Formats: sequence, structure tokens, C-alpha cells
Amino acid sequence: MAHPVVYERHGRFAVIRIDHPPVNALNQSVRQGLLDALAQALVDAQVTAIGLMCAGRTFIAGADLRELSQLPQGPSLPDVTAVIEASRKPVIALMHGTALGGGLEIALACHYRLATPDTELGLPEVTLGLVPGAGGTQRLPRLVGMPLAIDMVARGRRIDAQRALACGLVHGLVHEPLLEAGQAFARTLEGRDGPPPRASDRPVPDADQARDGLDQAAIALARSARGRQAPLKCLEALRASLTLPFAEGLKTERQLFLACKGSDEHRGLVHAFFAERQAFKVPGLDDRLARPVASVAVLGAGTMGRGIAISFLDAGLPVCLFDVNPEALKQGLGAIGQHYARAVARGRLTEDEARTRQRRLSSTRDYGALATVDLVVEAAVENLGIKREIFAELDRVCRPGTVLATNTSTLDIDRIADATDRPADVIGMHFFSPANVMRLLEVVEGAATGAATQATAMSLARRLGKVGVLVGNGYGFVGNRILYRRLAEALALVTDGATPARVDRVLTAFGFPMGQFAMSDLAGLDVGYRAREERRRAGDTVPRTWLDLLVEQGRLGQKTGAGVYRYEPGDRTPKEDVEVLRLIERFRAEQGVTVRAVSDEEIRQRCLYVMVNEAFRILDEGIARRPVDIDVIWNCGYGFPAHKGGLMYWAEREGLATIQARLLDFHDQTGEAHWRPADGLNRRLAEAGAGGERP
Ligand code: NAD
Repeated sequence: MAHPVVYERHGRFAVIRIDHPPVNALNQSVRQGLLDALAQALVDAQVTAIGLMCAGRTFIAGADLRELSQLPQGPSLPDVTAVIEASRKPVIALMHGTALGGGLEIALACHYRLATPDTELGLPEVTLGLVPGAGGTQRLPRLVGMPLAIDMVARGRRIDAQRALACGLVHGLVHEPLLEAGQAFARTLEGRDGPPPRASDRPVPDADQARDGLDQAAIALARSARGRQAPLKCLEALRASLTLPFAEGLKTERQLFLACKGSDEHRGLVHAFFAERQAFKVPGLDDRLARPVASVAVLGAGTMGRGIAISFLDAGLPVCLFDVNPEALKQGLGAIGQHYARAVARGRLTEDEARTRQRRLSSTRDYGALATVDLVVEAAVENLGIKREIFAELDRVCRPGTVLATNTSTLDIDRIADATDRPADVIGMHFFSPANVMRLLEVVEGAATGAATQATAMSLARRLGKVGVLVGNGYGFVGNRILYRRLAEALALVTDGATPARVDRVLTAFGFPMGQFAMSDLAGLDVGYRAREERRRAGDTVPRTWLDLLVEQGRLGQKTGAGVYRYEPGDRTPKEDVEVLRLIERFRAEQGVTVRAVSDEEIRQRCLYVMVNEAFRILDEGIARRPVDIDVIWNCGYGFPAHKGGLMYWAEREGLATIQARLLDFHDQTGEAHWRPADGLNRRLAEAGAGGERP
């Protein structure tokens, strides 16, 4: 294989070119190559300036994550950045694409930085539970000031080249070819005396303001970090840039980096990162079968239809929005217009971009208009009869090969597919609310779904910037099925004696962004109520709970200002409501329940272990293919704290034997079938030689 770092000389200008596809990730051979090439440039008497640039589509996009799990091999990145900065000949970073993590740290050690206008710059280490470890936390605040450094280092914010120019991170914007741009810039440096400018020589600007910024960020991040340590460690490293000489600051940064590298938080986040990539690599799924999709119809202009339409518009696809109800259609179109107006007002889109996206949107109430689209996503009301009628109609009008997808949350895909004569083209594309924001897409295969339909839906997930997970057909699929199980347990805990707020507090302390009941209030209690009613009508035994009583009193959640909690107008903060606590007491009395003390640990175990057991059942039934798919679904769709890796990853660390033992205890206590350890869990333990089924 060719060496990933090449040294070239163009007159007095030396070029160090990294060519390490696909993203010029830093690994041992790149680091060594950089040092070797630099040494060559320094001894070459002809050379007066050095350009550092990358081949392919991007500058160094970060460290090679595959190396993270191996023993570090020298030279280290801090060694490389130190040598670059110490160079007596000016080194110019010539960036394009993305300059992230170690890539940006290298650029920060260079004496000058130029970037093409489309370059993105950032230090996203914190998103992997790390502190930047090669001087980033010491050089960045010296160059751009503390407020922006806090955003970039402790919050992982990326900035574009224009912002980088405005804040002084780059010295100029340039266009390709970068070699010429570098040479031209180098000529402007000729004749300058003295050593080139070094970030490490500068003080952090506005020291008092910087200190205040750090104090405020420490308070805000401690509140929002949900048990994560890395954001706070990033602040500590940044503080060192203010309080310590550069060399000492580097040592502090290194210690913090190494502490983070050994943390469970880092390991969990790395697992979560790779899990998302693995979700797309489904054994047996052939991406090449994906059908081209150039136009889309979204059927149903309600909450979900609007969000789904926006997702496709944002991905550059023309969308035709369909609704039977003219008023709903008008409102849906209006809401999409408002969404884009807000995006412009908040500076997220230019007016031009917003206009272009909206121009791709059309609407209709006529099925005939759907004859030529490549994909239909149905998001009409959750009613099997209506969905079957819609699919029969789609079967009649759509051209052969059109993928017919349903966004149903609970209904049987096969019953929807068999309303058509082309069940192989029918699939579930289960978006999450708000559909243009949430990254998860459960792609649900029915018994007859064809391989090309699966491949098309999965490739669309990628195109929408979402994480697609291929799952099987079964009530609630994967995500909601586990959620319903946790809801039932949360309700049982309240019946036993806990308050809803207590259950929620235990879940947020675990790291969920919101508790079970706050989440139900956000989604609308009527959504679950209607689904339960539908199941009761279908003959399932679904016990009535105090949650049903709330809905029947008109308490539907946030949207009515009252649900499990009450809400002040314009404020989404859940407040405990004595009325609800009284209603719960009455409910317990009617059920003949003797209230008992329920500990936080019992809440934690029952809520989480019941999820793990259900997840093993889902695997046993083949509804999910792999544990990693469940991790991705709960991380991306339900706020499972990614720093704990994912539900199944966490379960292994919690200890499957511990979980199994508690499941058996709960089963002994209640006799309830859902506490019986799943076969897959027992098997997994037996395989691991750690126990297996209790006799
Ligand atoms: P909604 O009530 O907001 O919107 C449904 C829309 O469908 C309405 O505009 C209605 O006029 C229209 N409609 C009704 N019958 C129709 C027909 N025959 N043809 C065309 N349009 C018709 O509902 P929603 O919350 O957007 O849910 C839509 C679907 O998405 C449901 O299947 C639901 O289970 C599923 N879903 C909802 C959520 C959520 O959080 N709301 C999440 C995932 C999936």
C-alpha cells in the first residue's frame, strides 16, 4: 500500500499531503508520516514555507476510531502537534471538507490556517466521552476566545468556515486547487523575520469574561449532562488554559484525556457510535436492490404526515401531500410553511433554501395524482379498516414497483399488505414524532415484503439522515413494545405506592431526558388510550388503569395543560398535581391495594429489567435481529442515554445474572408471566457459563 503521507516540493513551497482514504483519519502511520515529512521540509534549505493538506474529499476528519481499542503506538498526536508548532518555518493548514477532532488539533498547531468556504470545523471528542487530547483545549481558547471554545469543546459544536473566519480561527477563505492557494499565501509571508506566530504564545483573551463563562457553563452543563463526566472534564481542561502556563495546561489536558479514555462513558458512546453503523449492515440485505426514488407522496397531513413530508423535502425530494380532508390538507400545508419560516427566522436556512424546499411541495386530494410517484408513505389515522381501504386504492392507482409504506405504530403490516395484490411492495416505515427531528426509522418487514422493498426503505433512511433499523412485524414492533412494557411497570409501581414523579425522577437520574409519565404527557395520553381501546375491541385483555381515568376526564397531557402532571400556560415543566395523586389513591382503594414503601432501587430495577427481558423476548421471536438493533432503537428513538451504550449493552454491564435473579424474584412475588426470564436470556447466561436457569 502507498504511504499515506507524501512529501512534495514546489519551488520554495513544501507540501505535506495526507492521502489516507476515505477520510484521512489519523492513525499511527499518518502520525509518523507527518513527522518524517516535516523533518524533511525542515532540513531542506530551499524550503521557506510548508503547506499541510489532504487528498480526496476532506481534510483530516478525526482520529481512526479503530485504534482506540488498541494499545497506543507512538508517535502520539501531542508529539506531532508539538513538532509542528515548534517548526521555525511557517506551516500552513489548507483545509477542505471536515477538519474535526485530531484534524483540527493539527491545524491549531499550524501557524496559519486557510479553508475552503464549505469546510466544517470542530472538536467533537466530547460526543465520544473524551476531552481533546492534543492541545485543542489549550490552543482553541487562545485563538477564538473562551465562549466559542466552550461551545466547541464542551458541547461538541461544529462551525462553518465563515464563522471560523469571523472568529479568527482561520486566516482566510480560499478555493481549490489548494496547492496554488497555499503557494500564494506563502508568498505573502516571504521576508517576514522571526519565528512564525504560535497559538501557545498568546494569552486567552478577556480573562475575566472567560472565567465567568466557564463558571456559568459548569452550572449549565452539570444540569444537562445527565450523569456524563466528559463535558465537565472539557471545562476543566479549558480552565487550565486560563490558569496555567501552556506546557502545564497541556499536561492537565493529557491527564483528563487519559481519565476519560478509561471511562465507561467513553466505551458506551463508542459502542453507540458503531452500533448506528452496524444497524445498516443487515446480514442478507442487498443495498444494490434498492429502487431509485425520485418522488414521494405522503398520505395524511396530520402531525406525522407533516414531519415526514419535511424530512423528504429537506433531503431534496419532491413531495406530494395528500389528505381526504380539505381543512386538514390546508392546515398541513400551512404548518409546513410555518416550519420553514421559523427555520429562516432562526438563521437555520437562508430564504432561498427555504423557498427551494417549499417549491418541491405539492398537494392533492385525488388518488390519480399518485400514479407516478416512486414511494408512498401513509400516515393517516391509526385504524386498520381505513388503512386497508387506502392501500387497496393505492394498489389500484400506483404504477408497478412503487414502494407502499405505512407509518403505523401498532397495526399488523401483513393485514395492510394483503389489502393489495402486491404485498411484496408493502413495508412499514415507522417514523417518530417529530418526524423531521427524530433520527430513528424502524423499517418493518411483513411476511411478504420483498428484498428490493427492504433495500429501498433502508437506503431512504440513510438519505433522510436517519438511522434505519430493519425489524419484524409484531405489536409495537421493537421500540414501542418495550416502551409499553415499561409503561405497564411504571403504572404498577404507582399502584404499589410510588408517585409518578418519583418514578420519573429515577428514570431521569439514570440518564433518560424525561421520565415515563412526562413522556406520555408529551405524546398525548389519548394516543395510548386509543391504541388500548382498539386492542380491547380486538378482544385482547388490557386492564384499565388510572391513566384511562385521566383521559376520560379530558386530561390528555401537555396539549390540554393537564395530564399526569399539570402545566402552566406556555410552560412545559411538569408539576405534580394533588388531584392526580387523589385519583390514584381512589384507584388503589378500588383495587383493594395496600400501599407500601417502594424504594428508588426497586423502581430502577423494575423499570429497566422489565425492558431487558422484553428485549430478549423480541430477539427470541426474531422481531429484532440483533441486540445492537435494540440499542440503536432505544438510543435514537427513546432517549436511552447513549453514554450507557444502549439497553442491551448496558444489561451486560449491569450483569445478566443479576438481572435474571431479580426477574425470578419478581416472578415469585407476583406470578406474572412477563417476569419469567426470556429463553434468550437464560440461554445467553448458560452459554457464558454463568448460571442459566434456576432449578
Ligand atoms: P393525525 O390525526 O394527526 O393525522 C391523521 C391525518 O390523516 C389527518 O389529517 C386526517 O385527515 C388524515 N386522514 C384520515 N383518513 C384519511 C384517509 N382515508 N386518507 C387520507 N388521509 C386521511 O395522526 P398522526 O398522529 O399524524 O398519526 C398518523 C399515523 O402515524 C398513525 O398511523 C399513527 O399511529 C402513526 N404514528 C403516530 C405517531 C405520533 O406520535 N403521533 C408516531 C409514529 C407513528
